[in-house]
Amino acid sequence: MISYKQLGLVNTREMFAKAVKGGYAIPAFNFNNMEQLQSIIMAAVETKSPVILQVSKGARNYANQTLLRYMAEGAVEYAKELGCKHPEIVLHLDHGDSFETCKSCIDMGFSSVMIDGSALPYDENVAITKKVVEYAHQFDVTVEGELGVLAGVEDEVSAAESHYTKPEEVIDFVTKTGVDSLAISIGTSHGAYKFTPEQCTVDPKTGRLLPPPLAFDVLEAVEEKLPGFPIVLHGSSSVPQEEVDTINQNGGCLKAAVGIPEEQLRKAAKSAVCKINIDSDSRLAMTAAVRKVLHDKPEEFDPRKYLGPARDSMKKLYIHKIINVLGSNDKLLK
Ligand SMILES: [Zn+2]
Repeated sequence: MISYKQLGLVNTREMFAKAVKGGYAIPAFNFNNMEQLQSIIMAAVETKSPVILQVSKGARNYANQTLLRYMAEGAVEYAKELGCKHPEIVLHLDHGDSFETCKSCIDMGFSSVMIDGSALPYDENVAITKKVVEYAHQFDVTVEGELGVLAGVEDEVSAAESHYTKPEEVIDFVTKTGVDSLAISIGTSHGAYKFTPEQCTVDPKTGRLLPPPLAFDVLEAVEEKLPGFPIVLHGSSSVPQEEVDTINQNGGCLKAAVGIPEEQLRKAAKSAVCKINIDSDSRLAMTAAVRKVLHDKPEEFDPRKYLGPARDSMKKLYIHKIINVLGSNDKLLK
């Protein structure tokens, strides 16, 4: 058993309380590799932002849970080396699918876990979430639960249809389980294809697809039931069309990829939403940069020559999200 506190990590409690009060949201960025982790930490240090490093099931399968944990420990030291005296870095399990997975992450130094029982019948979701909370809280690890189902595909999490969170269930769920934060479904979705073209309208100015708006009425109803309680949004990438264009102009083929417009996320960040998950946008930024280098310089074979620009591009994206969408810059406690 290793406590996250020994690793210099923090849980989400204090940062969420501050974010809800301050009307901003903490970035939750997924990481699978060194370049992604470096760019997340560089962006967080430069903007003086707290940050949540998320590890999904796909990341654990791809990069190994143990290695990712040690990388996060390294990230704390790296942030200090970059000049941040008191980094606020959370190591969070994204979409924990069982008590055992959550326990193994808690035991190896994660400071926060999500138990996703949203696909289960309500009572089973309550039971498994409560079990994880009881274990996690012994070690001061914070827990995110989920009510409502998001559509889309994220690593091994997928659902064909979304079901909005039912505001009438949230008080009962939070009281019975003791969760520290709650992911809700208000129309965001996983992946880079969040909406079908039929669900969208066409912007007459740009000819681009415009997705349907988020269900802010559901968010408001949840906030009314749980004043000041930390709310989480998954699947909140915006799928920047310039990255999609770069990919398509350099040999890629992404058709009708659509995300959540940033102005809607800005509006959500000002509410009780205090954690916004962004994964696909960084995948797009990385892929666009790699494709461009390999296309422009076919003689190049040193991975540092294309992963380096990919890292620069992701860093730029993360800084943009922190400052212009989430508003978590200059929010470190010390
Ligand atoms: Zn998710």
